[in-house]
Amino acid sequence: MGIANKVAVVTGAASGIGKEIARVFLGAGAKVAIADLNAKGADDTARELDPTGAAAMGVAMDVTNESAVDMGMDQVARKFGQIDILVSNAGIQIVQPLDQFDFGQWKKMLAIHLDGAFLTTRAALRYMYKQGKGGSIIYMGSVHSKEASPLKAPYVTAKHGLIGLAKVVAKEGAKHGVRANVICPGYVWTPLVEKQIPETAKERGISEEEVIKKVMLGETVDGEFTTVADVAAAALFFASFETNALTGQSLIVSHGWIMQ
Ligand code: NAD
Repeated sequence: MGIANKVAVVTGAASGIGKEIARVFLGAGAKVAIADLNAKGADDTARELDPTGAAAMGVAMDVTNESAVDMGMDQVARKFGQIDILVSNAGIQIVQPLDQFDFGQWKKMLAIHLDGAFLTTRAALRYMYKQGKGGSIIYMGSVHSKEASPLKAPYVTAKHGLIGLAKVVAKEGAKHGVRANVICPGYVWTPLVEKQIPETAKERGISEEEVIKKVMLGETVDGEFTTVADVAAAALFFASFETNALTGQSLIVSHGWIMQ
């Protein structure tokens, strides 16, 4: 088991969880494409994680844009020769009560989380099937792939949807040795979560401290945030696993927030 010399594309890797996955995959000997809407952030991250430029590359990619995704994947395959691992991780959060949820914001959320997962999956599968050496597709779900919270209708809807997509990829990909799994983290301290704290406090009429202690960590076994390192370790495990024994699954990494 291992990912040395495999080629991984990690979306949303200029920040937070994706960046740590890129770091851990590089440490394990993989070549990594850091794909992000933030083109400068992607290039800067690639340089930071691999100053030699031999094993990491930045790719400008809006995962909601069909041609940007296809061109970005082609760019990776041209530089590194193949695509073996996809981590579909790019994501944002918008919190609003359902009765006031703006339709445009709803569509934006579904586009990033679901269209993005579909487009990157399709582009990666085309390479993986052609190469004939299998592959691993990992979706960044959430505890919200299994559970709901108020104010997060499109996020919860999309994160549940990723489990369905992973199951279809697992079934269609099996004969090609392509596996698909979902990681479901609890709250991880990243810019995505930092932004949510004041917004949630305002919507719920509670203090920011209460948001952290009660809303985010209240149901965990120890009141702790999950870390980017915890999530990256789970991603490395899925990416390294070599057979169809582990496919179509979802793994909750949340300090016991929910147990299933
Ligand atoms: P983050 O804000 O730190 O990073 C997200 C990255 O995605 C950014 O670099 C951003 O530029 C990029 N991005 C946004 N829209 C994009 C687009 N259209 N195309 C390409 N890139 C785009 O967030 P994070 O917390 O690291 O979140 C990463 C993933 O983990 C998301 O899917 C999120 O839903 C999921 N997640 C996060 C937490 C958490 O608590 N932080 C918990 C569970 C799941």
